[in-house]
This record gives sequence, structure tokens and C-alpha cells, in this order.
Amino acid sequence: MSTNTLPDIKTSFPEWYQEVIVQADLVDTSPTRGCFIIKPNGYAVWEGIQRILDEKIKQEGVENAYFPLLIPEEFLRREEKHIEGFAPEVAVVTHAGGKSLEEAYVIRPTSETIIYDAFSRWIKSWRDLPLKVNQWANVVRWEMRTRAFLRTTEFLWQEGHTAHATYEEARAMSLTMLEHYRQLAEEYLAIPVVIGEKTPYERFPGADTTFTFEGLMQDGKALQMGTSHILSQSFPASFGVRFQAQDGTLQSPFCTSWGATTRLIGALIMTHGDQQGLIMPPRIAPTQVVIVPIFKSDEEKVNTVAAAQKIATELRAAGVRVVIDADEHKTPGAKFYHWEARGVPVRMEIGPKDITAQHVVLVNRMEQDKTKKKTFAGFGNVVQDVNVLLESIQKALFDKAKERRNSQWHQADKLSEFGAKLDADNGMFQVGWCGGQLCELELKAVKGTIRCLLNENKHKSCFNCTSPSSRDILIAKCY
Ligand SMILES: [Zn+2]
Repeated sequence: MSTNTLPDIKTSFPEWYQEVIVQADLVDTSPTRGCFIIKPNGYAVWEGIQRILDEKIKQEGVENAYFPLLIPEEFLRREEKHIEGFAPEVAVVTHAGGKSLEEAYVIRPTSETIIYDAFSRWIKSWRDLPLKVNQWANVVRWEMRTRAFLRTTEFLWQEGHTAHATYEEARAMSLTMLEHYRQLAEEYLAIPVVIGEKTPYERFPGADTTFTFEGLMQDGKALQMGTSHILSQSFPASFGVRFQAQDGTLQSPFCTSWGATTRLIGALIMTHGDQQGLIMPPRIAPTQVVIVPIFKSDEEKVNTVAAAQKIATELRAAGVRVVIDADEHKTPGAKFYHWEARGVPVRMEIGPKDITAQHVVLVNRMEQDKTKKKTFAGFGNVVQDVNVLLESIQKALFDKAKERRNSQWHQADKLSEFGAKLDADNGMFQVGWCGGQLCELELKAVKGTIRCLLNENKHKSCFNCTSPSSRDILIAKCY
């Protein structure tokens, strides 16, 4: 019945993750190397993310479009840093139609090149700017070690691409999208994030500036949840993107690109799951409430299911996503376990005694305290009480995640002091940095990386050498 078979979340986090996603029915393995099947229960979460993000993207005057999956291989070579960065993970199509191709194609690892080729035809004058497009698509990056949602050979994402007349406008666009990503993460996925800038070493290949938003998972490892870039002008120049400015001169536009992927689903699981399985933040949960009618006889079944349907209709009318589990071949205990593993935030139980008492039982998926886990809602207050409970779970998940994240965020001084702690216990370390790559690379010995530069200067000298520091950084191990 409700036996819990998950590996220990505290001591075996990777194994716990692998098992949670199976028990929650989010993914299945596939015969294709490095790729997973996203099952309906997992895809529904992605659809929720798409709905929220698509609205935000359109708010900024960005329009959706679609560009080819196959990109002429030669396009990638035009921007030196871009090809250098992507060459090791690009899949190339050399044969088609039963013969070898004269010109090979790469399967897009990202679409800057083919989009700039189009921009070179679409942009002629300052009047054509800004130009803002986004595409919802799949990309392929050949990965050696893969984990569902976190690192897979093929993944789903949105990639936004914009061109502007001035650097200031491009920078503002890049930061605006970063702020939308922060809102998506914090207000909907209930994941507290740090936003900051990447070091030159960790930048997107071909970008001048890469901004990131990073979450810290329960095991103390950071997860880059998405990025927003201001691209170097060499990018549009390589594709002949030029516009006639108002003063008549020919200029190169300033471009941005920004993306978020199915990795966000992995972040959600690793931030909120517990020993019983997944917990879905209500605002993104495909199912917010499961109603389980409790019955023994046929007559009880008829009555409890009818009551469940009536309440479900009221909840749906109020915009709540509800399912009724009236399967008579499963015990209530088996149903509780099934929906708990899938992370449904609220379970509602209705038995014959509840009908007599004119109330339902509400069970909070997140609450561990047995005396608080169950509450009653009178028939007349169900919609209101459910909405209050959903909102309180949404807030409690964020608060809990933030408190945990803050407890794993340490101030530190020298690598010689915090290195062993990072290596053994993970967590995030805020330190000073001279800006030198040699010091950055020293972190490899403790499996650390610089996650981002912060707009703070609490630490006045570099974590590794004696040079001064003008900007703090965050160091962590990462996915
Ligand atoms: Zn240094």
C-alpha cells in the first residue's frame, strides 16, 4: 500500500532524484542515446511553464517564429568563438536522400547563426529596429553524461533573439528578460534564485556579457536555470547584419539572446521534493487538487462520487485544476500514495460520515506535522478554503526553499579555509576575486565553479591570491 521505496533524500540524493521522476511518472528512458521520453505528466509541467513565459515574452513586444532545425555547417564557422564553444557537442548530418551531402548540416545547438542570416535580410534601416523574435523549439547538444531534465542530448527550450540600435537598449532588453525569468522561478516555481553575471570563462560562446539565474538544490549544488546574453558585435557582423542609422551611416546592431529550458522541471523536483516524492508548487501543478471519494458499498459510492463531482464542478468554475479518483479497484491508501508521489499539493477526501457532517477533509501534501496536515472545510466554504490552502502551500514552499538556501550560503575568505568544506558538504560561498582566470581555475581542485559575479563588495581581497577584489562572487559545485 503506502510503502515508501524512495532512496534516502539526505544521503542518496542522485538516486532519490532518479527514482522520484519515475514514480511521479514524468519521464521514461528511450532507445536514443542521452535522450528521455517526457511523459504526459512531465510534459504538462512544461506546458505550464510555456504558458507563463510566453505571456511574459509577448508583453515585451517579442513575436514567436520558427527557424529550421538543420543549419548549414558553414554558418557555425563564421563566428570564431561560437564554433570553438559548440564544436565538441554538435551533431552533423552528412547523409540524406540516400547519398552524401555536398554541404553538411548541423542540428541546431542554438539558433543565433541562422537567425542572423535572416536578420541580414530583414534589417535595412533604423526603422526596422528593434527586431524581436522568439522560438519554442528543441535543440541537440551531444552530451557524455546525461540525467533526465538536467542534462540531455535533446532538450526543449525557448530562445529569444533581438536586435537593437544601441547598446543601452540591448542591455535593458537582456536584463528585462532576466527579470521575467526571476519572476517565473520565484513566483510560480517557488524557487529562490540568485541573478548575476557570468565570468568571461563561463560566458556563452560569442557573448560580451552573460547573465544567469541560479538556484541551489537541496544537496547544495547550484543549478544554472537559464541565461540571457548581450552578444558581441562580431556576431551580427559575421552575418552581414547592418542598418542605416538616422545619420545615414551604416552600423551593426546590438543583439541579445536568452533562453530557458526543460531543465526548470529538474530544478523544481530537486528544490521541493521530499522523502515521499515530488511536491508541485500549486501555481504550476498540472493537478492542484485530487478528490478521493471514500466508499465501501455501492450506495456509498454513488453518494460520495456525486458529492465529489459537485465540488469538482465548483472548483473548476473557480479555475482550480481538479481530478477525481473514483477507481473502485484501488484502495484509498494506494490512491493516496499514487497522488502523493506525483506531488499533487492538496488531496480532498469525502466519505459517508463527511457527507453527514457537510464537510470535506483537506490534506496538505507539504505539511509534515500530523496535527496540521488535515483540516476540514464545510461544503459552503470549499472553494475559498482550497484557494487559501493552495496559496499558503505556494508561499510555504518558497519560504522553506529560501530558508534552506540561505543556510547553505556562506561568507568565506580564502580557498585554503573553505575549500575542504565545499568539497565535502557543497553549498555556496560568497568571496572576493581578483578577476584572474588562474585563480578561477584553482577551484577545479575542489570541484567548484564561479556561478556568478554579484553587485556586492563585502570581501576586499581575492579568495586565492593577495590581489584586491572589487566585486564579490559566488562559488559552488554545479549540475
Ligand atoms: Zn586572485
